[in-house]
Amino acid sequence: MKFNTKTIHGKQKHDLAYGAVMPPIYQTSTYAQSTPGGHKGFEYSRTHNPTRQALENAFASIENGNYGLAFGSGLAAIDAIMKLLKSGDEVISTSDLYGGTYRLFTRIFEGFGIKFHFIGMQNATNVESYINDNTKLIWVETPTNPMMNIIDIKKTATIAKKHDIILAVDNTFATPYLQQPLDLGADIVMHSATKYIGGHSDLVMGALIVKDKDLADRLYFIQNASGAVCGPQDSFLALRGIKTLHVRMQRHCENGKAVAKYLASHPKVENVYWPGFEAHPNHDIAKSQMKDFGGMISFTTKGNNYEEAIKVVERMKLFTLAESLGGVESLSGHPASMTHASIPKKEREKTGVVDSLIRLSVGIEDIEDLINDLKQALG
Ligand SMILES: *Cc1c(COP(=O)(O)O)cnc(C)c1O
Repeated sequence: MKFNTKTIHGKQKHDLAYGAVMPPIYQTSTYAQSTPGGHKGFEYSRTHNPTRQALENAFASIENGNYGLAFGSGLAAIDAIMKLLKSGDEVISTSDLYGGTYRLFTRIFEGFGIKFHFIGMQNATNVESYINDNTKLIWVETPTNPMMNIIDIKKTATIAKKHDIILAVDNTFATPYLQQPLDLGADIVMHSATKYIGGHSDLVMGALIVKDKDLADRLYFIQNASGAVCGPQDSFLALRGIKTLHVRMQRHCENGKAVAKYLASHPKVENVYWPGFEAHPNHDIAKSQMKDFGGMISFTTKGNNYEEAIKVVERMKLFTLAESLGGVESLSGHPASMTHASIPKKEREKTGVVDSLIRLSVGIEDIEDLINDLKQALG
């Protein structure tokens, strides 16, 4: 089965009771037993729920994995991965990453005795010099948020395998439509399904997908033991989102490309960060591991003026100023005052998050309207 078909049919069965084509929302916490232990495979909804299970099967299918797990948020999914580790273990992570992931690592898990190395991985071999006997996990986000750096998953996986280290990839920005990390050698794929997978800005959810049975069993144990699962209603919405992932992503990519090119030609724009440009430092890797370049774009305005950047995002009408990304509607964000405001100016500027940086999640509206909105906002 190819990808587009998988989004609709992958590992899905029609409802056994009435033949419902979409899985019903099993809004139940528990299941009747005829005798102690005499049940139909479902005992309690933290452990299993039929709607969540249909979604978890779909997750596994679209990422070419064997096992999928759904969580109450992307961060809850990352939290479950971290619980594979113990005090004294070390993690190597991309330095340019989602702020909430950085907060979880440094403010929660550092306190439990896990050591983190945040490093630039644009050159994958850089990872090797940080590996020692305690290294248990490599954490990769690609493309990175918000600077759109690209990390070579295959090369990083080769290094991880050689040293028997788990490689986890946050695939939120790319989605399995563009990039399938398990096929490139990663052990775990993670998603904030809140974003492109849900696709309609109407739910918060996380996902993990793996191929290996032993790793899946350990993660299912943590999912049940820690209990950060999502409910059946949200599972239904995410499953519905997955069925149009491929058509949405195709349009996100088309619109993203047009917006990136428009911005690059605008006299008031300084830099445009988008992996589809040949001048992007890791364009060749992006081209080899991604099917297209997505709808996430960051740019800076000339003069690097904080107030001017705020004015630009305030003037946008179709691009809604909001946290999050990946919905059908276009969103804008100003990292220096929003997602990255808690990072000292000097620190954030080291990774490129300067005062005039604006991040766009390009939606699937008509491209002429989006370009006109940017034109009037840039003045
Ligand atoms: C949003 C996001 C997360 C966190 O997911 P939540 O669903 O908000 O908990 C993690 N990684 C990336 C890249 C994200 O964009």
